[in-house]
Amino acid sequence: MNFHVLTLFPEMVMNGLNTSILGRAAAKGLLSFEAVNIRDYTLERHGKVDDYPYGGGAGMVMQAEPIYRAYEALSARFSARPRVIYMTPQGRVFTQQIAKELAAEEELVFLCGHYEGVDERALELIATDYLSAGDYVLTGGELPAMMMIDCISRLVPGVLNNDVSAEFESFHDNLLEYPQYTRPEEFMGRKVPEILLSGHHANIEKWRREQSIIRTLERRPKLLEEAVLSKKEREFLEKARKERQAEAVRTGCIRKLRETDLECVMRIWLEANKEAHFFIPADYWQENYETVQKLLPQAEVYVYENGSGRIEGFIGLADCCVAGIFVDKAARSAGIGKRLLEHAKGLRPELTLHVYRENERAVRFYLREGFRTQETLTDSDTGAVEFLMRWER
Ligand code: SAM
Repeated sequence: MNFHVLTLFPEMVMNGLNTSILGRAAAKGLLSFEAVNIRDYTLERHGKVDDYPYGGGAGMVMQAEPIYRAYEALSARFSARPRVIYMTPQGRVFTQQIAKELAAEEELVFLCGHYEGVDERALELIATDYLSAGDYVLTGGELPAMMMIDCISRLVPGVLNNDVSAEFESFHDNLLEYPQYTRPEEFMGRKVPEILLSGHHANIEKWRREQSIIRTLERRPKLLEEAVLSKKEREFLEKARKERQAEAVRTGCIRKLRETDLECVMRIWLEANKEAHFFIPADYWQENYETVQKLLPQAEVYVYENGSGRIEGFIGLADCCVAGIFVDKAARSAGIGKRLLEHAKGLRPELTLHVYRENERAVRFYLREGFRTQETLTDSDTGAVEFLMRWER
């Protein structure tokens, strides 16, 4: 596979790529790297390749002509027009999946911008793809190009000593890799997990998959949405998720509302109300938002803060009346509502509350927690039927 980099800093690119595994692969002829100096293609006498931006503004913009001429000279050597990838923070963020797709190409051209970027017309004429290293701004496209070339090269057959090692690394099946260990068996009192010394390959394989799942859950849970898992592994994931939620609830704490919690608490209030009270127009909650926001700091409110300092729920009390219990959607079914209610039960000998009849989930929850229905009423604000419920110690 052949990589061609259009750049103003060819030494930087070539020194970086001709090293270690990639350097050896290039020496074997599996890969080739070429850095084309854009400056060699300027028609300007003093080798100038940039100029001030039209319309004003800070910095310099790389001119279209030298880039276009450099590309023309390069592409004249190919029978078909190659893919030309412009390195830009405005592009698709590079992923292992994109690397896989690009590894199927024979020739790839990377265009590196510098300064404030590149004249748009050069891009319109030659760029086929726009890729980013991530959501941050660098001084030039050279490092992103080297990074992407490194990643793509590893997928070219023969570049890694062992083809299997590219397949079982992080992002395979959308999972992170399991923890790795090498000699000695014990270091600073920390032992290598017993199972890895057992020689039982099937058990080791199972352990590694499970560690991958746990690691992905803890470090990059979003990846799990598209992870390739067997039925058993899905069950394992669900169990691990529940265990972590229960642990987070155990290590979390309940404390009084602080001014700085208000924004988060109001978000939970609005989302939970809209979701649980689908039978009431959503505008109703939006209209009451500001009033509630003003009243909350004066009310008796306790928040649930998880082990990582995130607010995941709260309860409001007015004398012996529970004004409401709200739990963040992402943290439901982990016992947070129950813990908040238990806290209130510890503070009052009796509690009352109003709950809409149609909010069946909440009604079931309060019944489970020992509340009994006293009366059926109609909420004068919304017209919805509600129960008055009561609990006593
Ligand atoms: N003015 C440009 C913008 O806001 O989109 C950024 C210019 S940046 C200072 C200079 C060059 O660095 C860009 O033309 C691009 O080639 C490269 N670059 C900077 N950040 C990058 C990123 N996250 N991914 C890929 N290339 C990047």
